[in-house]
Amino acid sequence: MVKNLYTTLCGSDIHTYCGRRIEPANVVLGHEIVGDILYIDPAHSAKDFRGEPVKAGDRVTWSIFAVPAGIEAPQPDMPQKSDHLFKYGHTLAVGDDVFNGGLADYCVLQPNTAFIKISPEIPVKVAATISCAHSTVMGALRVAGNINDKKVLVFGAGLLGLSCVAMCKEAGATWIGLIDNDESRLHWGEKFGCDKTYSSPSPNEAALPWPDVDLVFDMTGSPAAMKTGLDSLSIGGVAIWIGAVFPARPVEVDAQKVVRKLLQIRGLHNYNYDDFVNATAFIENNYLKYPFEALIEKEFTLDDIEAAFKFASESKPVRVGVKIGEWT
Ligand SMILES: [Zn+2]
Repeated sequence: MVKNLYTTLCGSDIHTYCGRRIEPANVVLGHEIVGDILYIDPAHSAKDFRGEPVKAGDRVTWSIFAVPAGIEAPQPDMPQKSDHLFKYGHTLAVGDDVFNGGLADYCVLQPNTAFIKISPEIPVKVAATISCAHSTVMGALRVAGNINDKKVLVFGAGLLGLSCVAMCKEAGATWIGLIDNDESRLHWGEKFGCDKTYSSPSPNEAALPWPDVDLVFDMTGSPAAMKTGLDSLSIGGVAIWIGAVFPARPVEVDAQKVVRKLLQIRGLHNYNYDDFVNATAFIENNYLKYPFEALIEKEFTLDDIEAAFKFASESKPVRVGVKIGEWT
C-alpha cells in the first residue's frame, strides 16, 4: 500500500474528464503518480523491480499496468498489450476496490506491478511524470532505433515532446527541431536541447521550413501533422507515432513515397518494462540538467480537483500537478 503524494494530470485524464475518451465509471483517475510505501505484505520479496530492497517509507514510482498472473504477453516485449491487463487510473472502482488511481490518498499495488524505489531528492512533480509521459517517450526512442548522429523532428511541444527532445539530445542527435502551433509552449524547446522551433506550417505552404530528417516523432495525434512528418523524412527515415490515442480521420499516406524513399512508420502505445526502467534512470540522471519541474505549471490540491481539470482543459498548461494530502 502506497500513500500517494503527487499526481500529474495526463492528457488522457483530461480527455476522459471532458468526455472525449470513454473509461469505465466509476473510476479513480490519475496514473502519473508517485508515493511512499505505507505497508508491504510480509509475503512480498521486499525488493523493487531493480532488485533494491524496499521498506515502508521508501519513495516509489510504478508501471501504469500490471499483467495478471498466468497471462502471457502477445510478444515478450509487449506486456502492455496483455489480455485482462490492469491499468492504474483506468479501472472500474467497485465496493472497497477503489485504491487503484492517483487522484486519491492511497493506492494498493497489484501483483506483478513493476515498481522502482527512487530518491526523495527527485522533486515529486518530476517523479510523478515518470510512469506515463517519460516512460512512453523512452519507448518511442527504443522503437526509433539508433538516435546517435541523427537529425530529429518532434511534433508537439507538450511534456512528451519536450521529454523526447531532451532524450534525443542525451542520445546524441545532431539536430533537433520542435513544432507546435502554441507559441507559449515552444519557448521551452531550447531549454530542453532543441536546435530550432517552428510553428505548424499552413497546409498550403509550398516548402517545409525545416531540413529533411532521419526521424520524426509525433506526439500530437493530428493527421495533418503525421502527414507533414512523413513528408519531412529523408531516404531510410522512420516516423514514430505515439500521439494518436483518440479517434481521428485517417492519415493520408503517399505509398509511392514510402516505397521509393524506403520509409518506415512505427507505432507505440504505452511502454514496456525496459522503457520504464530506462525512463526512471533518465530522470535520475537528468532532473537537474533540464527544467522538468517547471513544466508542472500550476499546482492544485485534491480538494480542488474540479478546478484543476477546468484549468488543465481550458488554459492548456504543459502539466497540472495535484498535491495529495498534507506534507512538506
Ligand atoms: Zn498518461
